[in-house]
Amino acid sequence: MASIKQKTMSALVKAEKKPGLWLQEVPVPEYGHNDVIIKIHKTAICGTDMHIYNWDEWAQATIPVPMVVGHEYVGEVVALGSEVKGLEIGDRVSGEGHLTCGHCRNCRAGKRHLCRNTTGVGVNRSGCFAEYLVIPAGNAFKVHESISDDVASMLDPLGNATHTALSFDLVGEDVLITGAGPIGVMACAIAKHVGARHIVCTDVNDYRLDLAKQAGATRIVNVMREDILEVFPTLGMTEGFDVGLEMSGNALALRSMFKAMHHGGRVALLGIPPKEVAVDWNEIIFKGLILKGIYGREMFETWYKMSAMLQNGLDVSAVITHHFSFKEFQQGFDILNSGKSGKVILDWS
Ligand code: NAD
Ligand code: ZN
Repeated sequence: MASIKQKTMSALVKAEKKPGLWLQEVPVPEYGHNDVIIKIHKTAICGTDMHIYNWDEWAQATIPVPMVVGHEYVGEVVALGSEVKGLEIGDRVSGEGHLTCGHCRNCRAGKRHLCRNTTGVGVNRSGCFAEYLVIPAGNAFKVHESISDDVASMLDPLGNATHTALSFDLVGEDVLITGAGPIGVMACAIAKHVGARHIVCTDVNDYRLDLAKQAGATRIVNVMREDILEVFPTLGMTEGFDVGLEMSGNALALRSMFKAMHHGGRVALLGIPPKEVAVDWNEIIFKGLILKGIYGREMFETWYKMSAMLQNGLDVSAVITHHFSFKEFQQGFDILNSGKSGKVILDWS
């Protein structure tokens, strides 16, 4: 086994049970026979990290303290466990943040994204906002040389967008995307890339709707000012949307989605509502809607698909709005909390 000379490293730690993150020196993590240790180059800040930073109810119930957080990254393999195959020191990698058990029925059937015992990097175990990260080698994904470090650092959420958007056939279809957060913006780019007709994206935030437009939305709708049911007929659409991608987690967006769907429409649900949501089930039943819940990414089909799409022209660069050094992390979290950002990248090199 190779050895890392450093004994301690800089890391962003949830060190106290209150809002905030703390830049601290912590031990470099140890790695086992089946693990890789990755020197982190760039990380991206996720909505989940904002929940942890802001210390909301979900975070209080979920996050062990103290813990290094973060799960979106690109870096370089610097050491390998003795049993690791298929990876070499120097490989540029990102990684699947969901660790699956390997012994439940779905894992054994190769449907690891449906594992009932999933745990998360930077959620249940030490994360990537650090100089080094240890993960099981099977979770590492080699990044194609044509993909920039910036984009590679956000393959995890791009994977959420890809898994959701490719759940149903979008070719020549009219697509409604509710929520222009980073994942909704990337879903606009994917829908355009794979050949959807109208790509209508909604939000309540004009800054983010503008990013959706740049990424490929053909019509943006601020639902504070316009009603989606009045907008789609102006596009020559008479019967509603063929495919819906729910990416806001907002109850009003979810209800408007079902109202705006065509009979027989298909809806993929990624957004996580903070609490129970009442919907008009008659919209779903009488229209014969097909709903699919999405969790994470398919391992590793989603990773191969998004990597291939990036190689043949998928452009998600519009979603990246800010870069900071990890030492300036506070500015990154502040700008995300302001709502005036897309993806924020932290540089660790
Ligand atoms: P985000 O919170 O940055 O984006 C959500 C967007 O929805 C925001 O821009 C917000 O302004 C917008 N919104 C609020 N009310 C709205 C309304 N009435 N209509 C339309 N839009 C509205 O989140 P993100 O990082 O882009 O992720 C999108 C969603 O997916 C979040 O709910 C997140 O928790 C969830 N998520 C789920 C998974 C999964 O595996 N299921 C993984 C990652 C993220
Ligand atoms: Zn499992």
